[in-house]
Amino acid sequence: MRTVTERQTRDAVIVGGGHNGLVTACYLAAAGLRVTVLERRPVVGGAAVTEEFHPGFRNSVAAYTVSLLNPKIIRDLDLARNGLRIVARQLANFLPLDEMHYLKLGAGKTAAEVAKFSAADAGRLDAYAQRLDAVADVLRDLVLETPPNVTSGSWAAALPELLSGARLGKRLSRLDLPMRRELLSLFGGSAGDYLDGWFESAPIKAAYGFDGIVGNYASPYAPGSAYVLLHHVFGEVNGKKGAWGHAIGGMGAITQAMAKTAAERGVEIRIASPVREVTTARGRVTGVVTEAGESFPARCVVSNLNPKLLYGSLIEPGALPPDFRERITRWRCGSGTFRMNVALSELPDFRCLPGRSPAEHHTAGIIMAPSLAYMERAYLDAKAHGWSREPIVEMLIPSTLDDSLAPPGRHVASLFCQHVAPELPDGASWDAHRETVADLMIELVTRHAPNFKAAVLGRQIFSPLDLERTFGLSGGDIFHGKLSLDQLFSARPMLGHGDYRGPLRGLYMCGSGTHPGGGVTGAPGHNAAREILRDFKRRRLRRA
Ligand SMILES: Cc1cc2nc3c(=O)[nH]c(=O)nc-3n(C[C@H](O)[C@H](O)[C@H](O)COP(=O)(O)OP(=O)(O)OC[C@H]3O[C@@H](n4cnc5c(N)ncnc54)[C@H](O)[C@@H]3O)c2cc1C
Repeated sequence: MRTVTERQTRDAVIVGGGHNGLVTACYLAAAGLRVTVLERRPVVGGAAVTEEFHPGFRNSVAAYTVSLLNPKIIRDLDLARNGLRIVARQLANFLPLDEMHYLKLGAGKTAAEVAKFSAADAGRLDAYAQRLDAVADVLRDLVLETPPNVTSGSWAAALPELLSGARLGKRLSRLDLPMRRELLSLFGGSAGDYLDGWFESAPIKAAYGFDGIVGNYASPYAPGSAYVLLHHVFGEVNGKKGAWGHAIGGMGAITQAMAKTAAERGVEIRIASPVREVTTARGRVTGVVTEAGESFPARCVVSNLNPKLLYGSLIEPGALPPDFRERITRWRCGSGTFRMNVALSELPDFRCLPGRSPAEHHTAGIIMAPSLAYMERAYLDAKAHGWSREPIVEMLIPSTLDDSLAPPGRHVASLFCQHVAPELPDGASWDAHRETVADLMIELVTRHAPNFKAAVLGRQIFSPLDLERTFGLSGGDIFHGKLSLDQLFSARPMLGHGDYRGPLRGLYMCGSGTHPGGGVTGAPGHNAAREILRDFKRRRLRRA
């Protein structure tokens, strides 16, 4: 392990200590590089953090549930030894529909539950799961790969990319024709059309379709929403594919474990150190300067930021190629997400499934949106009005699985609400409407569980503007950029830069604005580190 002293040139400075920045730092340091992470906030973890939001009540304040975190990364970074423990929910999902009816999804239960609404749908569940899982396997295979980069220029540069493209082609050619058709539907089509093709009853389509609009400001019938659905199923919990679980201690337990590993490997982590500028000279980066005016010379600079934020705010525009500079301003960002944390005196008592004592449905992802049509209306309403007056809320009550988050007998809940407009249509500020919209979300839950409103002891609210201000998420985009076909794989964040290398020598990207995109996966950080280490090996970068 090599330690860094003041003024010494680092091998790598990482701008941003989100989970991906930490993952990159861990891999680079394991290879013997001198690495410094500079994080703007007083805590590392980015959108994956646990904080006290009300006296005595802690929660995962932004990202709130785990599935996508890659098992190889968990192993390579020894996260379990550093305190990470992930537990499964007792029930995957619970959809309160009206005063009488609900749907539960969970191992051994889903078929009987769906049969309450359609026997035909119950009979199709296994085939659907198998088909989706087979396509998700394709994605799982690609998650830790660097996409083939689209290059121009010499054969020497193009050849490795052609080979990588050929390897990808070979992989896809192993799929039979029906599977390739499925792949096309899921990559190009809408979640709504896809689910309508499989099922006839509304509740199961709503349960599955919710994944298509998470963080995606769109109707479930918008082309591309099927990919967003797929993006949410490539994970696993403790080996169970597609499941979602809870990190004991909240999402911050993941990033604190990463920070511990980083520190063990000699990474210098500085919190409350916002970077003001990435410095450049003659087409290559030379280091960074913080807001406080401190310089950090470095062989390479690795950005964990949304590409729009990096290129729009931290790099002198004249240093970037004109076409790149112009295109990156068109990088599409903006989730329809409004996020709340509430401290609760008691558990919600649902009209359709009464009871205030902890039960399996209290541990589930509780989706309040009964149909795809309802979700489409929510989007159209938000588009016209700024927020949907009949919104979509997923509520999770992690204190039912983890007693470290709230005082005994009390609870914390995450409210993950869609759809709100990232920017209000009349140019008004979200600051003027935050409380009104928060009240609306509480009212919606209270319609299903009448004791909810009175049980709220405290609340924390993040409008899209708050997500941007607090976490640096441009447009409140939870994925660092829309997961649309033109912003995925080799085109994330732009054709020619899908391999984690920026348009300046020595500049790399390791955040969710690179392949495979958003979510607490660690994959962009893992892949970026591999490319950086390759460049050190090829002596494109020299050790300090
Ligand atoms: C409300 C919400 C709910 C979500 N729910 C889930 C979920 O349940 N499960 C899931 O898997 N994913 C979820 N996501 C998505 C997931 O959290 C993100 O995609 C992921 O955390 C992004 O990780 P990252 O490391 O790429 O970037 P980030 O976490 O955004 O980290 C970037 C870091 O850079 C720092 N930074 C910014 N500017 C500077 C600067 N100038 N100088 C220094 N540092 C800077 C930021 O403070 C931040 O720490 C959610 C996201 C949000 C916002």
